[in-house]
Amino acid sequence: MQKKDTFDSICSYCGVGCGITVKKDAKGVLSVTGNELYPVNKGMLCTKGKTLNYVAQDTSDRILYPEMRWSRNHPMQRVTWDIAFKRAAAVFKSIIEKHGPNSVGFYVSGQCLTEEYYLANKLTKGFLGTNNIDTNSRLCMSSAVVGYKKTVGNDAVPISYADIELADCFLIAGANPAWCHPILFRRIEKHKEENPNVKIIVVDPRKTQSCALADLHLQILPGTDVILFNAMARWLIEKKKIDKSFIQKHTSNFEAVKQTAFELTIRQAAEKCGISADEIRLAAKMISDAKGFISMWTMGLNQSVIGVDKNVSLLNLSLLTGQIGKPGSGPFSLTGQPNAMGGREVGGMASLLAAHRDLGNPKHRKEVQEFWGSTEIHGEPGYTATEMFDALESGKMKAVWIVCTNPIVSMPNAKQIEKALEKANFVIVQDISHNSETTKYADLLLPAAGWLEKEGTMTNSERRISYLPKVIDAPGEALPDVEILWRFAQEMGFHGFDYTNASQVYDEYCLMTKGTTIDISGLSYERLKTEGSFQWPVPSPDHKGTPRLFQDQNYFTSDGKAHFNAPRNLYNKSETTSPEFPLILNTGRVRDQWHTRTKTGKVKRLTTHIPAPFLEMNKIDAYIRGFKEGDVVTVKSRRGSVRVKLKINYDIREGVVFLPMHWGKILNNDFSRANNLTNNIVDPISKEPDFKYCAVQVEKYRKP
Ligand code: SF4
Repeated sequence: MQKKDTFDSICSYCGVGCGITVKKDAKGVLSVTGNELYPVNKGMLCTKGKTLNYVAQDTSDRILYPEMRWSRNHPMQRVTWDIAFKRAAAVFKSIIEKHGPNSVGFYVSGQCLTEEYYLANKLTKGFLGTNNIDTNSRLCMSSAVVGYKKTVGNDAVPISYADIELADCFLIAGANPAWCHPILFRRIEKHKEENPNVKIIVVDPRKTQSCALADLHLQILPGTDVILFNAMARWLIEKKKIDKSFIQKHTSNFEAVKQTAFELTIRQAAEKCGISADEIRLAAKMISDAKGFISMWTMGLNQSVIGVDKNVSLLNLSLLTGQIGKPGSGPFSLTGQPNAMGGREVGGMASLLAAHRDLGNPKHRKEVQEFWGSTEIHGEPGYTATEMFDALESGKMKAVWIVCTNPIVSMPNAKQIEKALEKANFVIVQDISHNSETTKYADLLLPAAGWLEKEGTMTNSERRISYLPKVIDAPGEALPDVEILWRFAQEMGFHGFDYTNASQVYDEYCLMTKGTTIDISGLSYERLKTEGSFQWPVPSPDHKGTPRLFQDQNYFTSDGKAHFNAPRNLYNKSETTSPEFPLILNTGRVRDQWHTRTKTGKVKRLTTHIPAPFLEMNKIDAYIRGFKEGDVVTVKSRRGSVRVKLKINYDIREGVVFLPMHWGKILNNDFSRANNLTNNIVDPISKEPDFKYCAVQVEKYRKP
């Protein structure tokens, strides 16, 4: 039989979720091109996507077999999978017996496939008896989840990329899609090239690459987004540019928002935001003039101690103008990771259950429990990301199982994460690569198959579910993550884990979605393989998917209406500056790196764009301090310090500095790890950390 040599798959980096075609030549060498037929990218790929084949075939850093140490004083040694599972099960059983089920937990990733996410949740919430499973997606979009739930009744992105070409006004807030969602940005760029009347407003304290396309850049002071969106709402209301009929028929709670919007005059709001009142008026006018208005946002809004308030105040603008559920309009939260959405769908957070069910709802818990045939599922949310590491440090949690993520670099206040993992009795790390700094903390290291080495599904930012085939064999003894999870569950003696392939896990999850808002009971692997990708819901085998939600203006809320939400805080509640720490640090991404560089750091072509971390500072701030371009500086916060070279320009506001978050420990030191500085305070509802605002001081580095 002739072997297949061409495969359609999905890029493993960002939430845009571009389609790729992987070709395998006679020697097994892979090449990657953009899939011309895939609706998301129509053949386009960014620099990261174009170099995926190098990452997939470079096995130099791969974890090839399970490794274990008997105690912290012993070196890691190779063991069989059988011993690895027996040890993991023995340790988990003994810790649970002594300290209760809440003494263990899983910390997973938006890069896990949906099947893996689903199974990790079933195992933890249904059978280990704890809700301690959270994800690195908590760090990037949990505020958006809460914003959507409060507004449309569930975690449901209303629109599609196809709406981009139908819109004539974009408000891009706290996002730099030119670098972080490049193919999506290319679609906006092309749309504007072809339709010069399309208006683009960018809200960002930095003049980013996305501003090149902007008709208006609102360079606000960090943390003032709620004040800005409220001021726009005030202008829309005052000028009678709201959609009264839509508000009356399809929304509730308008009066509360009106009251908040009128707390400050537009002039007062402009002063607080550090921009002019005319800029606010112009932005609001651009929105009100639009036939199709789309807002887009990511970390600048979500990663904040008032992240939920920022989200709801932005979502209010879509409701005020009636720009939702219609072609070319809607609020569009962009996801960072390739399957952050899939994780949200299967309940991959400490407060959620599968298929958009809520942990706090006894009826939902009973449904899930009966479906799994599991022990009682408790209603108390488990530890969220930062809480989990706090619990490890305080000794409340004794063991953690980390899947496909590198918290030592990516979590805020990273020094504390080191302490937490040192204090933990037992750390399991399941990953593909020794490049992750977190693997050094493992007592048990489990080799996982990489993205082209296993099959499964992912959901991108626009609710599009795609199938990813297995293309190559995993190196050494690496296993697909689903298999690692079900074999551990079997070793624990749990029933309902007798799977033999990922497709069985997927089918089980699909069945569980039946009758829910996210119903994909009509979407089999077979359909995904033969008919391509689908946007949920897909409730029957002949259903074609749902590109746009709420076209009937029937929302997922209890009264069927969209809900306005008055933000609880106008003002940012982050830590304050002081003479000792007078500058605000903003962290973020650069174009050619991904997360903590465990993959992109291996690709030469990607490291040439920006080869090293840097601190971006306004020229005036630099001049006052006597700094020059390229000076090595020490950045200090109340939690730690980093040492990097200085990049000076006028693109960043005075009083604000920017540091990329990708670089971790270099040659065993952590001089450039941005999260030495960041604060682990979180939004009280979404529990998303405040990565975008911490007080720092910058000094010229002097050798000790
Ligand atoms: Fe991959 Fe995102 Fe680039 Fe598309 S835009 S190729 S999904 S990294």
